[in-house]
Amino acid sequence: MQIKEILTLTPAEQEVTVKGWVRTKRGQAAVTFIAINDGSTINNIQAVVDSDNNQINEETLRSITTGACVAVTGKLIASQGSGQAVEVKAEKIEVYGTADETFPMQPKRHSMEFLREKAHLRFRTNTFGAIFRIRHNLAFAINKYFNDKGFFYLHTPIITASDAEGAGEMFHVTTFDIKNPPKTETGEIDYKEDFFGRETSLTVSGQLEGELGALALSKIYTFGPTFRAENSNTTRHLAEFWMIEPEVAFYELEDNMALAEDFVQYVIKYALENCADDLAFLEKRLLDEEKNKPQNERSEMALLEKLRFVVDNQFERLTYTEAIEILLKSKPHKEKKFQYPVEWGIDLQSEHERYLVEKHFKKPVILTNYPREIKAFYMKQDADGKTVRAMDVLFPGIGEIIGGSQREDDYEKLLTRVKEVGIDPENIWWYLETRKFGSAPHSGFGLGFERLVLFVTGMTNIRDVIPFPRTPKSAEF
Ligand code: ATP
Ligand code: MG
Ligand code: MG
Ligand code: MG
Repeated sequence: MQIKEILTLTPAEQEVTVKGWVRTKRGQAAVTFIAINDGSTINNIQAVVDSDNNQINEETLRSITTGACVAVTGKLIASQGSGQAVEVKAEKIEVYGTADETFPMQPKRHSMEFLREKAHLRFRTNTFGAIFRIRHNLAFAINKYFNDKGFFYLHTPIITASDAEGAGEMFHVTTFDIKNPPKTETGEIDYKEDFFGRETSLTVSGQLEGELGALALSKIYTFGPTFRAENSNTTRHLAEFWMIEPEVAFYELEDNMALAEDFVQYVIKYALENCADDLAFLEKRLLDEEKNKPQNERSEMALLEKLRFVVDNQFERLTYTEAIEILLKSKPHKEKKFQYPVEWGIDLQSEHERYLVEKHFKKPVILTNYPREIKAFYMKQDADGKTVRAMDVLFPGIGEIIGGSQREDDYEKLLTRVKEVGIDPENIWWYLETRKFGSAPHSGFGLGFERLVLFVTGMTNIRDVIPFPRTPKSAEF
């Protein structure tokens, strides 16, 4: 039985066995208290060992230190102390594995930098236990949401030959000896000789393939690993992240916005309802951290309040052009100026996005109708010829959390745009054909899963919300 379940039992001296890792051991003359955690919950269970228990010898007791793995069998009784309802009166202890004093996760607050260095053991801390349980619950809520709404989970390929997204740098996939690949007569790498007979890479988005599914199954979503060789080291970009991409036939931009809002609110609400203990722990942790900050740098809302606020309030909707006007009139623009100057046509930087969300509207924002030059070729063109039916959802503390659009469904317009941006139509003939045969209005978006987990956990660095972060120059395992 897992500790989470044992903690809910009514104590009646029934025998239980607790298996887990020792968080702390406190000794008094007559009794020893061992706090054990098995990762099923943020809460530890306390095992109490009486010194007159002759089944547990002193040597065993001495070998139990922070980090050791044990199985404790005994009677479940009402706890004598405060803080927990039940505890185990230990009768037998088996030590699976000891941990000496060099075990890095000692019971004290470690810095996130330190924990990143000890990434192989950070799972054993309360903070990372909470983060990864919340991450799991969010993933489950995402699948549940779409399933309940009649969406089908479509598994799009990881290795892809469609290099059309242009969203970031690609990781190439090849079986060639990279030091000595076969070359064509003109000296280029001859991919005809390679495994797939053409150049391939790891997917930067499942959208184009997702559209093929949506134009037959009507409502699909993908949820899979996504790869971008981002050259900048930021707190919001990973080289390998998970993306959720719903794609829906017969949806226009307005439907797409409504879906994005309802979906994000649903999954956050699910976390509030199902991860209360973990969220309360993280909130307290953040509040403790903030005590060391000057008053004006502290956040206005505590974690739970912030999450409830997003769930309960409509997101602000406005066009890119309206946002530019606000940014041009904004205070930081007059006084301090943004680092990146604002003018119509720029791709918004996170400082601009965060100004709109955190200072101006003080709530999540959906920006629409971006200039077509800064957005992908597949977005549906507006009648003005300048903008496209794009939408980005911006969140406090994060900036862009979702990017999406209504897709261009007109064959000729799409083909013209494909050529304009320099894509060889031959390379995406299969995509173009969907607009030739039974084309339909359709829309979709991509949500970066780790950005959502960042928001819900209140963490500030994306490396801390994925179990095995891949970033430039770092991949220990
Ligand atoms: P950004 O402007 O932050 O670089 P993007 O516009 O390049 O993001 P999209 O191509 O719109 O990203 O991808 C959809 C979503 O995927 C983004 O809104 C974001 O939540 C997430 N995302 C994009 N790149 C990364 C990354 N390198 N690491 C983690 N999440 C990412
Ligand atoms: Mg990007
Ligand atoms: Mg962007
Ligand atoms: Mg985007």
